[in-house]
Amino acid sequence: MKCHLCSHEGPPLESSRIRSNIGRHRNDHFAVWRCAACRSLSCERLADYAPYYQGYALRNMERGRLVDEWYGNILKRLQQAGLGEQDTILDFGCGHGLLISYLRDRGYAQVRGYDPYTPEFASREALAAVYDFVLCIDVIEHDPEPRALLRTLIDRVRPGGCLCLGTPNAEFINLAQPEKFIHYLHLPCHVHLLTPSLLDRIVCEEFGLRRVASYDHWFMDSWIPGASPEFFERFMRVHGNDMESAFEKPRLTTFIKHPSLIYFLFFGWFHSRRRRDYIMSLYQRPADGNDLQAP
Ligand SMILES: [Zn+2]
Repeated sequence: MKCHLCSHEGPPLESSRIRSNIGRHRNDHFAVWRCAACRSLSCERLADYAPYYQGYALRNMERGRLVDEWYGNILKRLQQAGLGEQDTILDFGCGHGLLISYLRDRGYAQVRGYDPYTPEFASREALAAVYDFVLCIDVIEHDPEPRALLRTLIDRVRPGGCLCLGTPNAEFINLAQPEKFIHYLHLPCHVHLLTPSLLDRIVCEEFGLRRVASYDHWFMDSWIPGASPEFFERFMRVHGNDMESAFEKPRLTTFIKHPSLIYFLFFGWFHSRRRRDYIMSLYQRPADGNDLQAP
């Protein structure tokens, strides 16, 4: 077996067949394996992903107190990397534009989005410019060709500008406990899950950018009751553990039947804050664009 990410050839470190977390495809199982060299995870490739993205549940997400709290975590990280209100920003794979709307409300007027699956953002015109900050959050794991995606992203960063990548951390996932990690695996939509070291190797060594910051904790975490992964993963598990379970309305009877949820509703953050479940890395493109490598 050859790893598509690091080209290592040999038997995988571990492999399994794991179900999809999409409700109407929950009986579909997919091969997933971990490369013995780079430790990234790969899922078998499909000829047609369209059935799995039809009526995609995450498109139902709307802005509200929780989502804004989570986006606030992203904004803090961008500000620490030097984001200013006058900077131009591209949100690549922006979905229906929730983060764009949040950033505009916070005074970042020069933000644009690109998402080929959302008519409002499908124009490739946004890709004709270069930007001070290019964001690509929860996208690269969906792409069968992550290197080609990185090339596209880096080409859109102005020399001296910043690329912000967010993706689940393959090191956090234990294939022996599939139901616990099923939303990180999100089969078959997540084609490749990278490790922090592999991502650094590709972006820094192959493409010549410099890492300026790295966070190992998912941005979707907050002390606000019910806003921590420890709570919402448990909440989803008692509702069947499909991705659609995230949109179930919390009911009193659920908490009566599963009293431990009350504890995690309020104190989940204390448990999840120590997780290393995510990679959010910010990379600076050299000020002289000619320094870029071209793998
Ligand atoms: Zn590999």
